[in-house]
Amino acid sequence: MLDIRGLNEACGVFGVWGHKDAAEMAYFGLHALQHRGQDGAGMVVKNGDRLIRHRGSGLAADAFPQKTLDELKGTAAIGHVRYVMSGVHSQDGYQPRLFHFQKSSLAIGHNGSLVNSHELRHALESEGSIFQTSADSETLAHLIRKSSEPLLLDKLKASLKKIQGSYTFVLLTQKKLMAARDPQGIRPLVLGKLGETYMVASETCAFDTLGATYIRDVAPGEIVIIDDDGPRSDFIASDPGLRVCSMEFVYFARPDSNIDGINVHTSRKNAGRILAKEAPTPADVVVPSPDSGISAAIGYAEASGIPYEIGIIKNRYAKRTFIEPSQELRELGVKLKLSAVRAIVEGKSVVLVEDSIVRGTTSKHIVALLKEAGAKEVHMKVASPLLAHTCCYGVDLHTTKELIAYNRTTKDICRAIGADSLSYISEAGLVEAIGIPCSKGGGLCMACFNGDYPAGGGN
Ligand code: 5GP
Ligand code: SF4
Ligand code: MG
Repeated sequence: MLDIRGLNEACGVFGVWGHKDAAEMAYFGLHALQHRGQDGAGMVVKNGDRLIRHRGSGLAADAFPQKTLDELKGTAAIGHVRYVMSGVHSQDGYQPRLFHFQKSSLAIGHNGSLVNSHELRHALESEGSIFQTSADSETLAHLIRKSSEPLLLDKLKASLKKIQGSYTFVLLTQKKLMAARDPQGIRPLVLGKLGETYMVASETCAFDTLGATYIRDVAPGEIVIIDDDGPRSDFIASDPGLRVCSMEFVYFARPDSNIDGINVHTSRKNAGRILAKEAPTPADVVVPSPDSGISAAIGYAEASGIPYEIGIIKNRYAKRTFIEPSQELRELGVKLKLSAVRAIVEGKSVVLVEDSIVRGTTSKHIVALLKEAGAKEVHMKVASPLLAHTCCYGVDLHTTKELIAYNRTTKDICRAIGADSLSYISEAGLVEAIGIPCSKGGGLCMACFNGDYPAGGGN
């Protein structure tokens, strides 16, 4: 896969308890969650009283050759796939992390980002903690270690209460598996079952791959504890209202996953339908930006009655460029990856459907490709609102200046990407498309669209 850095929310987590081939289960789970991070994969396996770890760079298949998997024997495991934030390429960034205190061991995998980690670290360091990495999971380990509560679960609860931001944590000890979702449920987490084996995952697609049954979404602020007696729950906070990341529906999650009861493909298709109503344009064909615009383009075509066509092909074998994500390399990356289908677009007026525009690099290139292949007009329709804010909950975008929407109107962006027209779905349109029943905060985090950060932080 090519490295087109944008709003990547970094990471997928998986956990399994009570299976004779826990490592294999974790491997397949991570494989299904691969879209959430392709830079590194890791797992910690419980073998009797020992926790064994293996981490490696690249895809799960690269990190876990069969020989390694054969050596990772155990009955429980947690796993992690990682998207490395720009600039951090050492193996040190790969998870899960494994900590040993006296006779006990604790492995932690994390998806998300804490907004008060700086303050927490500062306080811990003043009390004598020494950090080896900048990882949030290490902050959690120190908080747990420092807690005066007698039981691990209470230590974890007390620690999570001090943490602000987005997270799903999976934790493994010699005695149990624990999984926690942040009090706003910004990042997704689900619980599933295969026979007597219980598992947790960032997305339901991992259960489908394993033939497991989805039980339910882990609730905002819930900790699920799984041991040989099965799962039970505890809570960090009384539910302040779900604010799950809307970008999960727009881009991050796999279309076959369901998040908080909503199918991702269906929500994208709805967004396309609503976009066709909000921003109709007469055209000859509707073309998706592959692959992320496919679901919305189907919806747009259905609602507008304009035929859906494959007008751009993605080269699936384009090799990933594992180098610093400079703008120049990003542009080269896009060229290697996509080609227009001249026979479909030549002389046509094209509605091009994209899930989101972040920096505008891909969009500009796709518009140019279509025009070079003879498209008469290219009307860009975006199935998410204007993205004008950064995300502090685990997304790789440091300043709003990197966004094409920075200090630009829709008209300016349209000109910058070379399209004949540009329309975005409205905020209300996206909320309707996803269709999460509104709770206190509206059910969704939409902060990168409207600057309303549900768990603090922001800019
Ligand atoms: P841009 O036109 O901003 O260069 O690229 C945006 C497109 O890249 C999106 O439509 C999406 O398909 C893809 N993309 C790659 N990484 C990300 C990401 O982290 N977040 C979002 N929202 N889109 C991304
Ligand atoms: Fe998701 Fe909110 Fe971050 Fe946007 S700001 S990517 S909606 S968590
Ligand atoms: Mg896209």
